[in-house]
Amino acid sequence: MKQQFILGLFFLLILSGCDSLTGDSSELGISSDVSSLISSEGAELVVDIEAQGDWMVQSDKIWCTPVPSEGSGNQSIKLLVGANINPNEREAAITVSGNGSMQTIRLMQEAVSPDAEEYHYEIPVIFHVLYDDETNENQYVREGWLSQVLDICNQRYSNEYFSGISGKQGTDINLEFVMAETDPNGVRLDEPGVDRRYWRNATIDCDEFTSEDNPDAAALVWDLNRYINIYVYTFTDKNVLGITHIAYTGSANPLEGLPESDYFYTHSSVDYPRGVSINNSAIYDLSGNGHFLSSDIGVTLSHELGHYLGLFHVFSSSDSSDSDASQTDYCDDTPDYDRSAYMLWLNSVEKNPLMTMENVIQRVSVSGASFQSRNIMDYYWTLADEFTLDQRARMRHVLENSPLIPGPKYEPRLTRSASSEQEPPIITMKLLRDGKVERNVISSSER
Ligand SMILES: [Zn+2]
Repeated sequence: MKQQFILGLFFLLILSGCDSLTGDSSELGISSDVSSLISSEGAELVVDIEAQGDWMVQSDKIWCTPVPSEGSGNQSIKLLVGANINPNEREAAITVSGNGSMQTIRLMQEAVSPDAEEYHYEIPVIFHVLYDDETNENQYVREGWLSQVLDICNQRYSNEYFSGISGKQGTDINLEFVMAETDPNGVRLDEPGVDRRYWRNATIDCDEFTSEDNPDAAALVWDLNRYINIYVYTFTDKNVLGITHIAYTGSANPLEGLPESDYFYTHSSVDYPRGVSINNSAIYDLSGNGHFLSSDIGVTLSHELGHYLGLFHVFSSSDSSDSDASQTDYCDDTPDYDRSAYMLWLNSVEKNPLMTMENVIQRVSVSGASFQSRNIMDYYWTLADEFTLDQRARMRHVLENSPLIPGPKYEPRLTRSASSEQEPPIITMKLLRDGKVERNVISSSER
């Protein structure tokens, strides 16, 4: 939880056309108690700036964000101080400058208590809804709907989804996605979590959209260290339900399979629309009452967010042309199966009217064991209601360490490569639509 209080700090910046960058300190006034320790839980501090002309505020730490970071004249700004999950106190320097004068505020934040329980992440999400026809309900998604979809996602991440179905295992990630309340400048959103944008020709090639060749799309991105950005539009390719950039990791705390770079510890902007893209053609598709849709939006979004947080598909394939298959997902507790063998079997039985959901979620692992597919990082048919402990560990590692992922981080142990100017490669993962789109459970004994 974040505390909100007003720091008794009055920062008086009198700008006088002074040429010196540091200015004359006698012209700047700051009240006293900036040295008081800020709680490890984080805080929102209010700073009053009195100035003539334009000013700019910069923080030297990613966990302390000035909002807004620039302005003009007398104005209050907020310093958003994230939770500290580190065992050490930490310090940030916030610099206010304008018209040749500069003043620095130093903040200290207490360490997390040694017996603190694991941090409960609440990650703000912003859906960028792209439309060229406001009367098209798939494009101009109904108000309130995306919040419901996110709730369904949260049920999966807290392991409450399908909790009544026999054999339920899975684990709670201790992570909650929340609809963003404010925009990057701190302005309250009329419609939390939703940014509606007119887009000329809103049927879009998702590969082009997510690439670096699209400055218009890159301009949509909200601060990646504060929001997960989700772009909702009509994909040119109807068979693709979603596409996502996968998480980065730092060189001092790497995670198998993820692109490794320290670049984003010192650079926070990207020139492509990083995040999750969702095909709005299936935006209202939802399973329920024993009736399953392979294009279920709750599954699609949960699955894509899993990629964004560092997970790979749980299956491999003996068909080398199957680009969706992973050689490994770096998790020992997700049984691997041959996706192409499963698809061959599925094609042979799909016309059988007696085949139920219980039948088609059966898999045979590469070691010969039968199991039910319930993993969110599988493809259809699956109940898609579980993450495993190893998957949890990967996502927690990303949440706690990876740049461009919102929420408190362990302090990066920077290495020499931290000053690297080399931007790491951009890797995306896709979710494809299965040929069959609906299936019923005949047996009700497990519902
Ligand atoms: Zn996928």
